[in-house]
Amino acid sequence: MNHITHWIDGKPFVGEAQRHGKVFDPATGEQTGEVDFATDAEVDAAVAAATAAFPAWRATSLAKRTTALFALRELLATHLDEVADLLTSEHGKVKSDAAGEVARGLEVVEFACGIAQLLKGEFSEHASTGINVHSLRQPLGVVAGITPFNFPAMVPLWMFPLAIACGNTFVLKPSEKDPSASIFLAELVAEAGIPNGVFNVVHGDKVAVDRILTHPGIAAVSFVGSTAVARHVYETAAREGKRVQALGGAKNHMVVLPDADMGDAADAAVGAGFGSAGERCMAASVLVAVGGCGDALVERIQTRVARLTVGPGTDADSEMGPLVTAEHRDRVASYLGIGEAEGAKIAIDGRNHDIHGELGGYWLGPCLIDEVSAEMRVYTDEIFGPVLCIIRVDSLDDALALIERNGYGNGAAIFTRDGGAAQRFETEVAAGMVGINVAIPVPVSYYSFGGWNSSLFGDLHIYGPDGVQFYTRGKAVTSRWQNIGEHHASLAFPNATASEKANEGNG
Ligand code: NAD
Repeated sequence: MNHITHWIDGKPFVGEAQRHGKVFDPATGEQTGEVDFATDAEVDAAVAAATAAFPAWRATSLAKRTTALFALRELLATHLDEVADLLTSEHGKVKSDAAGEVARGLEVVEFACGIAQLLKGEFSEHASTGINVHSLRQPLGVVAGITPFNFPAMVPLWMFPLAIACGNTFVLKPSEKDPSASIFLAELVAEAGIPNGVFNVVHGDKVAVDRILTHPGIAAVSFVGSTAVARHVYETAAREGKRVQALGGAKNHMVVLPDADMGDAADAAVGAGFGSAGERCMAASVLVAVGGCGDALVERIQTRVARLTVGPGTDADSEMGPLVTAEHRDRVASYLGIGEAEGAKIAIDGRNHDIHGELGGYWLGPCLIDEVSAEMRVYTDEIFGPVLCIIRVDSLDDALALIERNGYGNGAAIFTRDGGAAQRFETEVAAGMVGINVAIPVPVSYYSFGGWNSSLFGDLHIYGPDGVQFYTRGKAVTSRWQNIGEHHASLAFPNATASEKANEGNG
């Protein structure tokens, strides 16, 4: 059985952990590992290592930081398959999906490799006579990341490469459900030549998270997870004076207009609804069928789902794997009963899907719930599994109003051939990431990722340009090197006009 421990100051934690968690293979239900859970003292040790590493790391030249990031990029590309295997073994996602996850994380490392360009300040010569002004962006110090189970490699990679590229040091608290990928990443960081203490990992649960949120040595916290915990993280860390970005849950709407290609829309709905067993924050979870196209979509989705192979992620034929834990599978499956009791119709019952896996695995096939209305819990709750709901509405106006009323606002997509409708959707929809004939509109690494409303607490989105802003603070410098020694004290508030007059007087 694997023993997974913390990574502090460039090496595995040495010592006996007082608390542990179990790690399972979701495809078989077997326990495969035991992960140490950090106490306050172990979080403090990681923060101490990051604090000690900060002065030298922030003073490390951009050239050296960039060289290390390029090395990390190469190592991650070389070991992509191994990281993907770890994701499949602890999360359950199929191998191709796991490889895609690592590739999207790799893109953020590539963006971070351009840090020299991204950190350039501005300069104004002659803001006033003999006075120049320039701006800098500087690192914050020790920053922390707290990440969810569903992207054990990609979401940490959304955070730490850019944070350390900006000159910060980092403490990561990954999900306790699938912790091994974070340790593999830590080993690659060390191999890339990034000094000890710049990147640390502590495992654990609420105990470790709450210590991070209140630790006086941590300047900022990036969080990705469910809305309830995101709110707790945002409120607690902000009260402690930290900078916070806390990304929460989602209920993503995919709107289909009657002029869309129904086959294309059905393909997209199946991929976005059931890929990674629906355990994606950008999964399509509500299909909004406009103007009577619901039946055409249901029929096509049924045909496609019947052909889907659900089985272990290690099997090359599998298109969808198991859910992450038995409890989560049971919770997700319970929504079929909840939906029926609320008056919805089960159009595809995933409990009956043919599963190519072992009985002990946490299986549930794709589910489609039809005739859903906006008051039902199957619509208002984030289910976070392979359950797609269909709401039928009359018009694009109704679809936009539905999305506006929903508490989340992560992603939203429209499928149509009508450019005017698409443009209106883009302008009016209440969501942070929008897809036009693209069902999962996760922005590329040189844009930023983030939702609205209960999908994000804080001001700045994650990675991309917002990531650089989040992990740095600004400074504006006003400097004068001329006329020093010409003595005339003035109590006037400095402003350009007064200073010009004074200079004229001197002339
Ligand atoms: P989660 O909120 O249960 O856990 C996230 C992290 O918080 C983990 O590291 C966990 O150990 C910690 N945590 C859990 N409960 C806590 C508590 N009570 N106090 C302090 N810390 C706690 O989320 P999850 O189940 O791991 O991940 C799924 C959720 O993440 C879904 O809601 C999904 O929508 C969301 N998610 C959002 C995004 C996004 O970009 N908005 C991306 C991925 C996942």
